This record gives sequence, C-alpha cells and structure tokens, in this order.
Amino acid sequence: MAKFKRILLKLSGESLQGGQGYGIDRDRLAEYAEQIKDVASAGVQIGIVIGGGNIFRGLSGAASGLDRVKGDQMGMLATVINSLALSSALTAIGVKARVMTAVRMEPIGEFYNKWAAIEAMSRGEVVIMSCGTGQPYFTTDTGSSLRGIEIEADVMLKGTRVDGIYTADPEKDPTATRFDEISYDEVLRRGLRVMDITAIAMCKENNLPIQVFNMDQPGNLRRVIDGEAVGTFVHP
Ligand code: UDP
Repeated sequence: MAKFKRILLKLSGESLQGGQGYGIDRDRLAEYAEQIKDVASAGVQIGIVIGGGNIFRGLSGAASGLDRVKGDQMGMLATVINSLALSSALTAIGVKARVMTAVRMEPIGEFYNKWAAIEAMSRGEVVIMSCGTGQPYFTTDTGSSLRGIEIEADVMLKGTRVDGIYTADPEKDPTATRFDEISYDEVLRRGLRVMDITAIAMCKENNLPIQVFNMDQPGNLRRVIDGEAVGTFVHP
C-alpha cells in the first residue's frame, strides 16, 4: 500500500540539466519519467511542479539589466518548456499526462484550475502545473506549496540533488549532518535554504508536510511512496 494517496512532486529545473550545465538532459528526463511511471502504476495521484532554473531565472536576468517582471515572465516560460518536455517523456512511455499553465496560453497547455486538475488526477492522469504561481517575484517552490495545498495533496515531495536537509551545505561543509526530520519553525530559525521563506510559511500555515529527497537516485521516489525513511521530513 502506498503511504500517500495524492502527492505534489516538485522538481527543480536545474536537476533536469543533468551533467551538461544547461537545458534538458534527455537521459535524466527519461529517468525521471520512469520513476514517475512506477509511482503512477502504484495508484498514487500525481501533480507536478517543475522549476525553470536550467533555462532562465528572473533574478539573474535582473542582475544583468533586464526588467525584473519581464525576467520572471521569461522564467515562467522556462517552466512551461520543462513541463512540456516531461509530459512528452511520460506520454512516450505510456503515462497519460497533461500540462496546465497558470498563465493562459492554449493550446500549449490548459489554463490551470484546481477542480480540473483533481478530476484528471483522479482518472489517473499526471498533471503538470507550469508557470509556478503565474506571478512575478515568486518561485516554483512557492508555486508548489500553493498547488500542493490547492489540490489537497497529502505531502509535497521535493526531489533534489542532495539526499535531504543538512545543518549546512554538504557540498561546502564536510562536517554538515543530515536531519531525518525537522519542523518548519526549525528550518526557518536555522535559516536553512531548502526552500524560500514564503514557500515554507505557506506549508506551515496550511499543514502541508514536505519530504526532501534525492530524486537523482533511481527508485527513490518509489521508496518515499512506500514509506521508507528516505531524505528529510519537514512537519509542523
Ligand atoms: N517564476 C516566477 N513566478 C513563479 C515561479 C517562477 O516569476 O511563481 C520565475 C522566476 O523568475 C524564477 C523562474 O521562474 O526564477 C524559474 O523558477 P525557479 O527559479 O523556481 O526554478 P528552479 O530553481 O526550481 O529551477
């Protein structure tokens, strides 16, 4: 029995780039699609939010002189590109998937609405919700908190390149240790940069737990679904 009935899976854009440093790595994309298929076949309802950092981030645009709002709109479009790529990879292996957009752009994607998303997930379709929140000055982490709460997900699963939340950045500090579990308040108090403050605050206020785990380890998504202690659990 799967531990969760409905999940919101957050994937960062950066992890889609694999080792190539930019854009979409085909092998990584296919591997993610396989992991998602495995979980879908276990009967779990799946909503997905993908970032766009492998293509464009509004903040870096602003740093190089671009208008921030236009830069953020470019970032949101980057999430659409990633979402289309993932839906295509899922369809290619026989998983029904649809892309919704928080900004109107039919026929590229259907304009997001909560009830249509839940209905599709209930029918076994994977729903990829793109454009984050649809508003500038937000991130896709906040987009996934928002969507996770809206679709009444049991948990937000944040798939990253590290295997959980550490006391410090494990890539920079060899003495960093990993939490098996931690509260939202502790994450905020320690200033741990697992997600932005807005995203954490939304999850806290609406009681959406978060599991942070390494999605680049094949089979890990299924392990989380099966209730294995993989990564770090963030709770009230
Ligand atoms: N973005 C935005 N509003 C949102 C979500 C995303 O403006 O609700 C823009 C923002 O510029 C952000 C970019 O889209 O930098 C890509 O998203 P994010 O940085 O969250 O991607 P990730 O780091 O997960 O790859």
